[in-house]
Amino acid sequence: PEVEGRALRISKVGKSFGGNRALDGVGFVAEAGRITALVGPNGSGKTTLMNLVSGYYRADQGTIELGDRPISGLPAYRVARCGVGRTFQTPMVPHGLTVAETITTGRLGSHPVPMIASALRLPAHWRALAEEAESGRRIMGALGLSHLAGVPAADLALGTRRMLELGRAVAGGSALILLDEVASGLDESDIQDLVAVLGKLRDAGVTIVLVEHNFALVRAIADHVVVLAEGRVLAEGDPEEIATHPDVVSTYLGA
Ligand code: ADP
Repeated sequence: PEVEGRALRISKVGKSFGGNRALDGVGFVAEAGRITALVGPNGSGKTTLMNLVSGYYRADQGTIELGDRPISGLPAYRVARCGVGRTFQTPMVPHGLTVAETITTGRLGSHPVPMIASALRLPAHWRALAEEAESGRRIMGALGLSHLAGVPAADLALGTRRMLELGRAVAGGSALILLDEVASGLDESDIQDLVAVLGKLRDAGVTIVLVEHNFALVRAIADHVVVLAEGRVLAEGDPEEIATHPDVVSTYLGA
């Protein structure tokens, strides 16, 4: 693996909004280098959990760890610095930047000055810039975005924007990527492309957690499925176990 995989460990997490208990003692592990799908009916707490992991909300109880590092209680920018990337249902791409520039901004703040630069007495920043451009090119290549490098990010179609958002998370060095309804609004061919890219990221060691309504997609890509219902874990297992789990069939899939 190219990325040092880090597991996401959630234990006994609780979160209330006023008197409404959105999450009640949720715990599970999203293994490193695996795709974990979070499913469940509307209002079961999936988005709240994603917001807790990424530091947008603070848990009332419980702990969240990435690898051996506690991340619960950290503000969102610090969680991001720990290597947590996120995509949104409505992709957030910066205005006024091209595809290539957007990928590169994902890397800002992580400029490892290579030892070789000093060994060769090259100005460190030249070397760093060249490496950054090269790594940006590799990421665009892997995501099928190379031919769009000079296109303004804001002009992209939805499927390509999603891919770009993913590229930005990868470029930023995310060890864990959280995906919210990644397939919504996409046609079959875009979905196939995303499935292929997510598979590549997983194989590179990235830990992926996705919230997904489309169970056919979950079945196609998830290694592990966690079912939430009314703020608790109703069941977890591989996609086939979940598809035939009696409680899940009645609560969620049958609905
Ligand atoms: P899901 O993503 O599974 O549809 P959510 O996490 O959005 O579920 O919602 C879980 C529960 O928490 C719901 O009852 C919802 O109304 C409530 N909730 C979520 N976010 C907020 C918020 N910011 N303020 C108040 N209630 C919220």
